Amino acid sequence: MILFNKPYYSGKELAYLEQVCHSTTMSGNGDFTKQCHRFFEERYGFRKCLLTTSGTDALEMCAMLCRLQPGDEVIVPSYTFVSSALAFLREGARVVFADSGPDHPDITAETIRPLVTSRTKVIVVVHYAGVACDMDPIMALAQEHGLLVVEDAAQAIDAFYKGRPLGGIGHLGAFSFHESKNIHCGEGGMLVVNDDRFVRRSEILWEKGTNRAEFYRGMVNKYGWCDMGSSFLPSEFNAAYLWSQLEQLDDIQHKRLQIWMWYHEALADLPASRVKLPVIPDYATNNAHMFFLVCASLEERTRLIAYLKEHGVQATFHYLPLHASAYYHDQHDGRPLPACDHFGDCLVRLPLYYELTEAEVNHIAEAVKAFYR
Ligand SMILES: *Cc1c(COP(=O)(O)O)cnc(C)c1O
Repeated sequence: MILFNKPYYSGKELAYLEQVCHSTTMSGNGDFTKQCHRFFEERYGFRKCLLTTSGTDALEMCAMLCRLQPGDEVIVPSYTFVSSALAFLREGARVVFADSGPDHPDITAETIRPLVTSRTKVIVVVHYAGVACDMDPIMALAQEHGLLVVEDAAQAIDAFYKGRPLGGIGHLGAFSFHESKNIHCGEGGMLVVNDDRFVRRSEILWEKGTNRAEFYRGMVNKYGWCDMGSSFLPSEFNAAYLWSQLEQLDDIQHKRLQIWMWYHEALADLPASRVKLPVIPDYATNNAHMFFLVCASLEERTRLIAYLKEHGVQATFHYLPLHASAYYHDQHDGRPLPACDHFGDCLVRLPLYYELTEAEVNHIAEAVKAFYR
């Protein structure tokens, strides 16, 4: 069976973990953590980075930094992982779900605009499959109405929009290093702060509501409780594991892109009227987080997944639309979200991971083509 995902392993993980075992800092914010922060700040020009214990935690920090009040509204895609909405719901906001665009699960300025009211405070964009949302019109819309923009860049490491790194365009950004992402440390994430106004408070929220990080830098001579917060920082073990992967980022990205291109070429002659291949818009780069197909119907997708399983391939569907979820559908305003529903019914993801070989990709592509014949 060709598995859907195999988490990447660089081979340096154990050596770096051992280094932590023999050090005196095993809690958070040690040398490996700082090295990871510096990597992202220097490579992508992010204003400030803070590793977190998950992408969900990074989103929760974003929501806390937005200082939401009861009754405030936050616009979120419905076709996304639960955390994109949950982080804001936990802060007491009302979540208003936006529909995807017609060609890709990303939300657009057109699907967001009709949802903006006097109570709207934040727009959350998700760069699905690492493919950038069209950010210029979204940032312009936000500016017009004085809204904050949070980028859920969980899938978007090393991806760009018109030359700008994703996660670095909105006021705040969140990455995930869950094992399903291009690079990982089992569970992990990172907050990116792009707006100076949030820099100081982000560090306090990160350190359980204290100014301990400033104390460690020698900026204050004692530290204490000064705000809300939680224990958002990961231990040095997580950071060491992550560092072993960050060192290989270029190699990982190169290999994943090659696999993505193999799929794209092998499947180029599928009947376009029955099944769609992913399209990368001119303004976006491809970080090869995912290769997906969009079938014509739920019934066809179900048959395709079963057919691939019979041929030794584990393919999977993706999100169940959040507006129709058991937890939230009662609170959804009832608007139909047809594009989101379409991706919920018809999108199927094929295996994509570093170790996947060209022969395996050809086998998978042949099975897909045989199904459509
Ligand atoms: C993976 C993912 C998350 C959650 O990240 P965790 O690290 O698993 O908490 C959030 N949003 C999106 C779009 C994701 O793909």
